[in-house]
Amino acid sequence: MINKEIPYKIYLEESEMPKYWLNLRAFMDKKPAPLLDSQTLKPITLEKLSEVFCEELARQELDDTTKYIEIPEEIRNFYKMYRPAPLVRAYCLEKALDTPAKIYYKFEGNNTSGSHKLNSAIAQAYYAKQQGLKGVTTETGAGQWGTALSMACSYFNLDCKVFMVKCSYEQKPFRREVMRTYGADVTPSPSMTTEIGKKINEEFPGTTGSLGCAISEAVEAATSREGYRYVLGSVLNQVLLHQSVIGLETKTALDKYGVKADIIIGCAGGGSNLGGLIAPFMVEKMQGVRDYKIIAVEPSSCPTLTRGVYAYDYCDTGKVCPLAKMYTLGSGYIPAASHAGGLRYHGMTSTLSELKDQGLMEATSVKQTEVFEAAQKFARVEGILPAPESAHAIKVAVDEALKCKQTGEEKTIVFGLTGTGYFDMMSYQKFNDGIMKDYIPTDDEIKVAIDKLPKI
Ligand SMILES: *Cc1c(COP(=O)(O)O)cnc(C)c1O
Repeated sequence: MINKEIPYKIYLEESEMPKYWLNLRAFMDKKPAPLLDSQTLKPITLEKLSEVFCEELARQELDDTTKYIEIPEEIRNFYKMYRPAPLVRAYCLEKALDTPAKIYYKFEGNNTSGSHKLNSAIAQAYYAKQQGLKGVTTETGAGQWGTALSMACSYFNLDCKVFMVKCSYEQKPFRREVMRTYGADVTPSPSMTTEIGKKINEEFPGTTGSLGCAISEAVEAATSREGYRYVLGSVLNQVLLHQSVIGLETKTALDKYGVKADIIIGCAGGGSNLGGLIAPFMVEKMQGVRDYKIIAVEPSSCPTLTRGVYAYDYCDTGKVCPLAKMYTLGSGYIPAASHAGGLRYHGMTSTLSELKDQGLMEATSVKQTEVFEAAQKFARVEGILPAPESAHAIKVAVDEALKCKQTGEEKTIVFGLTGTGYFDMMSYQKFNDGIMKDYIPTDDEIKVAIDKLPKI
């Protein structure tokens, strides 16, 4: 029952790919609050930020006025190796759900790293190379970011040091080997190779680590070495900027066929894929051109937007990064070992936090067993084996489509399918064996880390 007018997969021409990134903050009347220097608690300067990040990236980080930023040609050429990404009409899923809703997904898993993270990795590696650096350091949770960065660094011949959250390092040995194949040096975090790692190991013996803690180690490794800078795969403004290619391509593809979206859904860890996907749609919403229902989906085990507070907080456990005003569970919050490693972050990018606070975006949380049920249903009808992170968006897209079935409304739903789940088979195994558990923190558990937020 394929509608002949709309292809199963909408591919853009190379010439239709974006030449500019969209800087969403530049369109906001009320801007997200500025990043604060963790020592002085004053808005951070370009100079200070450039000690940690590449200079051009630090400039992008602080830029909330330039609406469109040109994508350098070398980055566009790299994008051509795996983009444009298809926008797929989920005909088979629609049929399986027997819904009048029209469902589309933007598939970002068509590259070896298996996720959207490569969109920003290549940009960050490019600017590091431009600056004449020797290498970069970073953290990785589930491993997707580390893999993407390894690929980008090998392309530009840069050294790449990755601190991988210990539980993932042990759970996903093949992820680690992919990174090493691309030439990265991978260390389990917390490690004994940094001062902060030693301290965390002493304070929490036997800890399996967290993203916040791996970030602190990576920052220390960069700032204590000549010719190195730290790069980050989510949360930052610069990452949302680079990820705007997702939304720009989606908008162009929909416009090409005269399709108008009603609901836009994405999973949210640090908020970069969602921030990128919604960018051009949010601009239309803010300008009153069209009203979209925009939904961020997070795991119930790490419910930042739905149960956190909107306040200034540290981005990392070691308190070395600047502070951001964001929805947060507290930088000391160590979420239960959920299977969506990429969504286990205590905070949320300041742009999405501000949009949520202004009521321009909604948020919801879902349990991991229902996420895997949705993942399985999707894999069986649409073929793609989704990453557990991406399956959070699938779950809510299915729920919205089923609501349409009840009301008879023919809404158009677009969701971000951020990646594939080939390295998540341990989680799928638990689900298939029926031994996967849901974890929902109590109010008291959440309160502990929130009570320790800096008083600003
Ligand atoms: C990292 C990751 C996410 C979450 O990160 P955001 O910055 O919130 O986009 C989602 N899906 C996949 C596949 C990831 O690798």
